[in-house]
Amino acid sequence: MDTLSHMSPVTRLEHLASELGCSALDEDLALYLDNEDELKPLRQCFHIPRIKDLPTTDQSLVNEEEECVYFCGNSLGLLPKMVKPYLDEELDKWAKMGVHGHFMGKRPWALGDECIVDLMAKLVGAEAGEVALMNGLTVNLHLLMLSFYKPTKTRHKILLEAKAFPSDHYAVESQIQLHGLDVETSMLLVHPRKGEETLRTEDIVSVIEREGDSIAVILFSGVQYYTGQLFDIPKITEAGHRKGCYVGFDLAHAVGNVELYLHDWGVDFACWCSYKYLNSGAGGLAGAFIHEKHGRSVKPSLVGWWGHEFKSRFSMENKLQLSPGIDGFRLSNPPILLVCSLHASLEVFHQTDMKTLRKKSILLTAYLEYLIKHYYSENVADPKKPHAKIITPSRCEDRGCQLSLAFSVPIKAVYKELAKRGVACDMREPNGLRIAPVPLYNSFHDVFRFIRILGEALASVVTEE
Ligand SMILES: *Cc1c(COP(=O)(O)O)cnc(C)c1O
Repeated sequence: MDTLSHMSPVTRLEHLASELGCSALDEDLALYLDNEDELKPLRQCFHIPRIKDLPTTDQSLVNEEEECVYFCGNSLGLLPKMVKPYLDEELDKWAKMGVHGHFMGKRPWALGDECIVDLMAKLVGAEAGEVALMNGLTVNLHLLMLSFYKPTKTRHKILLEAKAFPSDHYAVESQIQLHGLDVETSMLLVHPRKGEETLRTEDIVSVIEREGDSIAVILFSGVQYYTGQLFDIPKITEAGHRKGCYVGFDLAHAVGNVELYLHDWGVDFACWCSYKYLNSGAGGLAGAFIHEKHGRSVKPSLVGWWGHEFKSRFSMENKLQLSPGIDGFRLSNPPILLVCSLHASLEVFHQTDMKTLRKKSILLTAYLEYLIKHYYSENVADPKKPHAKIITPSRCEDRGCQLSLAFSVPIKAVYKELAKRGVACDMREPNGLRIAPVPLYNSFHDVFRFIRILGEALASVVTEE
């Protein structure tokens, strides 16, 4: 496939199909692409739910033995097979040696997070010492904002997307209120242009240029959770820095999905959860990043014993020796059971790298886009036929793996029919579906099956009406 890598993904798909002597719509192309996929073995590292085990399945409609089409990795990643053995290792240790487990074995509990933090740092393009694993995402966002958001009379605003994830929106509102400021005047939202769904980088940059002198912190997502838009992190960061703002990112939908180079981009701070593309299980251990340039200058506002340097942490003299950078932000001893599940997942990522994953991802999502456009574009001759508009940007540089679809029909009934047939994806009423083919464990054939099942689901809803 490599000789074709200079072509656009769609040209490449059509070219491959013609070489195979089939159409790009044929199952043969999906099977060929899977066969050629060097990452295919990684699917075996995960438990893929069987259709018969899903609570939504209508057994009369499906082949029991089939694996489900799981396109929900943007919400909750699948279970890596090594999670259970790793949990067992720590549970056995606990059973056999109790408190001695803190400093013994493969993952000494007192250093549990530190055993896997380098694996994490590589995935976000951070240097050692710039990343910590702790708490949940929203907690980390608050801890970082407490240190980076120091409003003054003239510079008191926080800039974010108009439709940020609710937790981020509330976190920002409450941070502003914590300083006794007014949300109306201190929270600055960037809206898409009229009639558009996603934000243009030039518009974000021009708001920063216009308002930058009054902006203390710019907080964007890396990949927008709803539209799937990948923001231009280096450009936003640079624009913010030109105006003297701190620039931070919530990478919940970006980590494990797109390539990140937080250190080289000079991003000031970032945080993320690990249960979406990082497959660590619901409520998994979250990540936080502070750039090395702030290592000595930016200090935690709230301190716990785990922020005290390891060397003298346990001498309990109550004279704080604060660890530099993000390590000083850690409050509590790490939850070893959460470390285990994240460890298992990060090891799968490190059987490859983000560059390779992203290469597959771009083709996989382009394939999904190609089939959706072919079968579900608005039909001028038959405008009543159900169709879907893709609201995610069409340039692969502007998106991760997810496509967000807006249907011409109410989605709830269609979604139910999909679920009955073993498709797991995310629905937003009235008409939205978010579809995330994840390169780590999804196949081209998953995409092919999804399109076929979507056809069945739409047909069954239309006939029922
Ligand atoms: C998933 C997600 C969250 C969830 O926050 P938790 O603290 O992990 O519950 C917050 N923000 C964004 C942008 C998300 O995508």
